[in-house]
Amino acid sequence: MSPQNEKDRVAWLRGPSAQCEAAPENDSTAWRLVLLGAPGVGKGTQADLLNQRLGACHLSTGDVFRAAGSQSECEQSPAMKEALGHMRRGALVPDATVWEMVRERIACLRCGGGFILDGFPRTLGQAESLQQLMDSEGLALTAVVNYELPTSEIVTRLGGRRTCEKCKAVFHVTERPPKIAGSCDRCDGKLFQREDDRPESIKVRLEAYERSTAPLIDFYGKAGLLVRVAATGSPDEIFEITLTDLKSRRARQLAN
Ligand code: AMP
Repeated sequence: MSPQNEKDRVAWLRGPSAQCEAAPENDSTAWRLVLLGAPGVGKGTQADLLNQRLGACHLSTGDVFRAAGSQSECEQSPAMKEALGHMRRGALVPDATVWEMVRERIACLRCGGGFILDGFPRTLGQAESLQQLMDSEGLALTAVVNYELPTSEIVTRLGGRRTCEKCKAVFHVTERPPKIAGSCDRCDGKLFQREDDRPESIKVRLEAYERSTAPLIDFYGKAGLLVRVAATGSPDEIFEITLTDLKSRRARQLAN
């Protein structure tokens, strides 16, 4: 199966004025997941693999900001311009801006096919806002997967990461190199290094993670939603572990 087509999540990437090509049917077993973990642990890759297997849509807040960043300046709102400045430095975008963006896309959270949130929530304030919204919509998270990796490995991963400018597939210069250097295996698009994957931004991002996002592990642990996965090994190996853990969690929930 191919990774999620951009047209199938256009409402997420572009906002409520756009409509997805393939809106899924309501599914009572839809997965509603949050992926946690420091930048570079591979959440985006795992979200793509989970999307292919579970069908739930891959919703990345970072992808929305990057999509906005590729628009012309006059199309960007003042809040979005400010958000992009934070992003380039590797800092977190203020909660109010992120929340407004997510709230505008509430249809994606209501979507009958479920969702895989990647990069959101990233602060306790965002997690609480999401919780209130889900409660008011009568929705519940299925689980929160926390991908764990030592910091030294994270730095190596981020520094070597290259992204396709067309289909957003992710490669690594040594660990997951493309067949042709600088070119995407899937669509021949050009590979680039994200501005926030440069060394000075990596440092800021890891500090922001420790300060603002790591406390969410405890938050979701207390809510009984946390699934811990060691993010070592190949993406496929990590994926199989994630899937096994998620399925056994669901089986336990159904048995209770
Ligand atoms: P990501 O692709 O998830 O690593 O996100 C890239 C960048 O977008 C982050 O370093 C932040 O600057 C910004 N960003 C994405 N999601 C959020 C969020 N939930 N809260 C604050 N900033 C975010």
